[in-house]
Amino acid sequence: VPMEERLVRLGLHIEKSRLVSKALLVDELTGAFNRKYLKATFSRFISRLERSGESFAVALLDIDHFKQLNDTFGHSYGDDVLHRVSEEIRHAIRSSDELIRYGGEEFLILLNVSDRAIVESVLERVRTRIEEMEFPYDHQVTVSIGYTRVCQTGYTLGEWCAYADEALYKAKRDGRNRVVRYTSAVREEKRIAYVTMSANTYTSLADRLPKEHRRYEVVYRPYEAYSCNDNIEMFVLDDARAQEAKGTLSAVKEQRGKYSHILAVSKRTASELGAIYDDYADGEQDEVITRKIEQWLEKLPD
Ligand code: GH3
Ligand code: MG
Ligand code: MG
Repeated sequence: VPMEERLVRLGLHIEKSRLVSKALLVDELTGAFNRKYLKATFSRFISRLERSGESFAVALLDIDHFKQLNDTFGHSYGDDVLHRVSEEIRHAIRSSDELIRYGGEEFLILLNVSDRAIVESVLERVRTRIEEMEFPYDHQVTVSIGYTRVCQTGYTLGEWCAYADEALYKAKRDGRNRVVRYTSAVREEKRIAYVTMSANTYTSLADRLPKEHRRYEVVYRPYEAYSCNDNIEMFVLDDARAQEAKGTLSAVKEQRGKYSHILAVSKRTASELGAIYDDYADGEQDEVITRKIEQWLEKLPD
């Protein structure tokens, strides 16, 4: 085979493998890299930190109330928004930074920036640029961002992500559309575990309800004060409210199934709730209900 021909074949081969590896590492919908790429890239950042002491930052970004957007304008419109937000992030960071689609509407950014003030200002720029985007339907999209700076080796990618995630959840708790840096204060801050029940049930249980928890502040509230968001919650539902609450509860289950727990206080309530309840206390004895609440609090994530 003549040299020229060989070179052409080689060129084609290289082009092909480039396309294949790109297809393997890039998320189709958003054009951001995927998790496979993240692993390798994180190792590269860590090696550089070891070698030359250049630190970097891991940021997690999550679109606020994205589910609501899907519900209002449709899933395929949601896809378009996701794509555009991803583009916007890419324009707001440098090509030496990395953008990874971390989950559904969650992105991870590896920021190739050592200086703390600059990390903060880049992420703040990402946040404002998204906030200022214009969309066909006249609505706004905002994002919450949690980040941590990586200045030392010895922790895994998963551990850094967990720190960034805690900061992200603080950003959500504090009202969304903001950037939060992970600090020990974030770690120490107690999350709230809401327990929602009728005023009557509360009155009858008040003395024995568990109030202390090492990681959570336990707040009891009446049905009227309930709000549907990403709180960690338990619902204690008696017969009187079961039917009425059913619609709300299935919405909650859909959103944050993991952390919401529905306790039906009798078999009858359970059957009225259909498949939604997680557990029931047979009979309405205060003791049983109290114990169920204790057990739930025990199982909450650290
Ligand atoms: P918040 O993060 O502010 O707490 O509220 P949220 O509504 O964004 O939170 P949640 O994580 O509960 O919902 C994320 C939604 O994102 C759920 C899912 O329907 C949607 N989603 C995830 N991936 C995609 C996708 O690829 N396309 C579309 N259109 N929607 C997606
Ligand atoms: Mg999310
Ligand atoms: Mg979200």
